[in-house]
Amino acid sequence: MKRDEDVAVVGAGLAGCLLACYLARRGRRVTMYERRADPRTGAAERGRSINLALSERGLDALRRIGLAEVALADALPMRGRMIHPVQGELDFQPYSSDQDRAINSISRGSLNQALLDAALAAGVEVHFEHTLVGLAPATGDLRFETPAGDRKATAAVVFGTDGAGSAVRGQLLGHGLLTEELDFLDYGYKELTIPARDGQFALDPGALHIWPRGTSMMIALPNPDRSFTCTLFWPTGGVSSFASLASPAAIEQHFATHYPDVPALAPDLVDDYRRNPVGLLGTVRCAPWQAHGRVCLLGDAAHAIVPFYGQGANCAFEDVVWLDHCLEETGDDWSHALPLFEQRRREHTEAIAEMALDNFVEMRDRVASPAYQLRKQVEHGLERLLPGRYVSRYELVSFSSTPYAEVRQRVRRQQRAVLAAGAVAGAGLLLAGLAAVRRWRR
Ligand code: FAD
Repeated sequence: MKRDEDVAVVGAGLAGCLLACYLARRGRRVTMYERRADPRTGAAERGRSINLALSERGLDALRRIGLAEVALADALPMRGRMIHPVQGELDFQPYSSDQDRAINSISRGSLNQALLDAALAAGVEVHFEHTLVGLAPATGDLRFETPAGDRKATAAVVFGTDGAGSAVRGQLLGHGLLTEELDFLDYGYKELTIPARDGQFALDPGALHIWPRGTSMMIALPNPDRSFTCTLFWPTGGVSSFASLASPAAIEQHFATHYPDVPALAPDLVDDYRRNPVGLLGTVRCAPWQAHGRVCLLGDAAHAIVPFYGQGANCAFEDVVWLDHCLEETGDDWSHALPLFEQRRREHTEAIAEMALDNFVEMRDRVASPAYQLRKQVEHGLERLLPGRYVSRYELVSFSSTPYAEVRQRVRRQQRAVLAAGAVAGAGLLLAGLAAVRRWRR
């Protein structure tokens, strides 16, 4: 029998598990359905972003329900970027002006497991190997494929937290309740491994390592077992692309030329390269996120973004906090809370989607240029000179909970002010110069 407080959460990934915890805390009877097998019994999927960078927004959401400590138990703080040029010295660029603030490299699997444990402890019922294949948005009737055959369920409210390729979104689309736009990059990603060397990290574990190469880029984040997971971003097709390296010799040659310090650090490079899949990267835009005040998308299902700001999971966690506030304000009235959530949250997810795309160009290209390094030094100088008044975009995104759209506006205002100050200083210098020339002529 369906009761008003029964909520179904489809997708027990990062967003789904955190959402289930928050809803259970509000006294809801939550049932979670997950396509994958129980992670406590099965192996992790290969090549699926093993670690991720958790920053203030995600931590804030976890802290509110006492989960930040467990999430950070094995975290490795990264205080800046370590740039690996093709030739020359490594260059460390701190993320914050005090050189102390860090984003945290954590294991996706461990975080998911910790959230799942917390959901189970809060009384959430979880059904693994349940793949959503049918949904009646008006009634909340659900149909799943399971190893034991089709299974039906029903709920007063249904959340789709089933990721970028969301089946819940697909069902809303099929019922004519939503429109979507999937904007894929012509870049994909492949994960590679730098193992521990003599039991130690082969690179500095206090940094996010970047090999910026213009049309391609590789990054590496440290893992608690002292290995690094590298992610190579490269076009999926064309002359210089994942498709262009067909033989082990070609792979070795490519890395020796473009990433010359990597082959010595990654003995299984060729095997990893050949075995690991190429993942797709894209932005999901859809509207509306909710239907009938009964079905709602959240996290990547509603607004997947490219990973270049390390914000997808952080943003999904923040969604949960914002939804919780909407429930609080509406006295847990779903029909008001769900549209209010979308109305408030949408502009911010659109802003981070745009900033994440911008950051791709910055990471793969600009970070290596002297002009960029100078700009960063000026920026950190301004931050120290005008504490709290000038704050870089990176710091506002990663180390604050300032809503994303406000970050974008504030950064534009700061840039205009700096340009105006530069113009005034330039004009002042010009006038002084002209006066000096006049004096000299006399
Ligand atoms: P997902 O994590 O995708 O979870 C969806 C869940 O739904 C899965 O468990 C899936 O099995 C399940 N599911 C799917 N379909 C069905 C179905 N039909 N029925 C039932 N269950 C289903 N974010 C950061 O914050 N920091 C980072 O550093 C970062 N790095 C990234 C690096 C890469 C290469 C990529 C690709 C992404 C990165 N992200 C990062 C983004 C982050 O991974 C996502 O934003 C985050 O996982 C979204 O969580 P989610 O729960 O919405 O979706």
